[in-house]
Amino acid sequence: MFDNQTIAAVATPVGRGGVGIIRISGTSARHCAQRIVGHVPKTRYAEYVGFNDENGRTIDRGIALFFAAPNSYTGEDVLELQAHGGSAVLDLLLKEVLKTENVRQAGPGEFTQRAFLNDKMDLAQAEAVADLIEASSEQAVRSANNSLNGEFSARVHELTEKLINLRTYIEAAIDFPEEDGVDYLAAGGISEKTEELLKDVNKVKQAALNGAALREGMKIVIAGRPNAGKSSLLNRLSGQETAIVTSIAGTTRDTLREQIFIDGMPLHIIDTAGLRDTDDEVEKIGVTRAWKEISDADMVLLVIDATVSDSENQRIIQDITEKIPDNLKICIVLNKTDLIKESKGGRFGKHAVIEISAKTGDGIDRLRNHLKSSMGYTSCTEGSFTARRRHLEAIDAAQSHILLAKQQLDVYAAGELAAEELRFAQNSLNEITGEFTSDDLLTRIFSSFCIGK
Ligand code: GDP
Repeated sequence: MFDNQTIAAVATPVGRGGVGIIRISGTSARHCAQRIVGHVPKTRYAEYVGFNDENGRTIDRGIALFFAAPNSYTGEDVLELQAHGGSAVLDLLLKEVLKTENVRQAGPGEFTQRAFLNDKMDLAQAEAVADLIEASSEQAVRSANNSLNGEFSARVHELTEKLINLRTYIEAAIDFPEEDGVDYLAAGGISEKTEELLKDVNKVKQAALNGAALREGMKIVIAGRPNAGKSSLLNRLSGQETAIVTSIAGTTRDTLREQIFIDGMPLHIIDTAGLRDTDDEVEKIGVTRAWKEISDADMVLLVIDATVSDSENQRIIQDITEKIPDNLKICIVLNKTDLIKESKGGRFGKHAVIEISAKTGDGIDRLRNHLKSSMGYTSCTEGSFTARRRHLEAIDAAQSHILLAKQQLDVYAAGELAAEELRFAQNSLNEITGEFTSDDLLTRIFSSFCIGK
């Protein structure tokens, strides 16, 4: 993707606005300024100028800003033309810009990619730029901003520092085996230090989990027998009338999706077709889809009806939990408690039960809190940062390599193999900040950005 050409794009969203900005980055930005503005604006001074076409006709008047390399967003010469924010004006102006020799339309995320390649920011920070733009709650904004400021990267760097220290000690110990009767590998508390390192990695992982929950949310499936109140619960949680609620069993034939926020944490809620054996062809398809959704969810909310007998509910729970993958979290939601006189108590077998009434809203807050805590989510933004699944995977990989290193040390006293594992762990952590990446990964990350970013 990276070439020596200068890139240009409209950096503001499509549509009408007070201001629309065209951003140009690369060695031809100066030439572009000469052509459109008539001169290169003084670095970092807002100049009110006319933007002219090649025949000298003024297309618009606005502010031109010039940032000389390396002191710009991308680290290259950057020209910003702030015109009026109409699509036609910006189209005309961009066309004129693209007539400049060596200037081409920028691809998605290309400005940020150049910033990364020119060491203006690391990969986790570049991703935080996209997260900040996409943030849909205050917590998401604050966390993305922390990541953008390098808080996440700093935590990762701290870990790599410690890893490197440990590895170099082990490597030195291998070089001086049992000199003067001292076994350097056994001395020096290496095993304890490895243990400590594992704890540190785990702390970063917990913070990253919170960050990922904030960014990606949790996928929750609302499951249960027809008429248990799944659609009503979905509507309660989302505050909108999305699902059709009727008293005829089997109304929800397809899966419905809804995104809601609990204290800033997004939840992708999927209401499934009633899970029952049926001869109806359309309903059958719905049931099959429901099982598919369940298999890749983070949690299942199994809704049962309080007016149904306990033994019947036990049977329903057993029936459904048997078919659900073991690693999936299950929360039993006992609905319609407004119709029963006494609470049924806290548990159904080994599963905790949350009692609610989708009709009156009773117990919904408790359910929300339960959802938050089971994701390990805290809405505190102090020291939080956004994280992605790829970061979590890298941390997991680092963790397993450190564990293996510890094993090599403790069980086999195999210093060289331990050092090797620590090196793998270091590579995994480096993937987060981008010191160790493939072109593939970069393309994948930046292509998900918008154009002009
Ligand atoms: P679904 O088939 O599981 O999606 O169930 P619905 O949400 O369509 O609800 C089935 C019926 O139960 C409807 O008539 C709802 O009004 C009723 N219902 C749902 N939740 C409650 C509740 O908490 N209390 C009472 N009294 N009725 C409810």
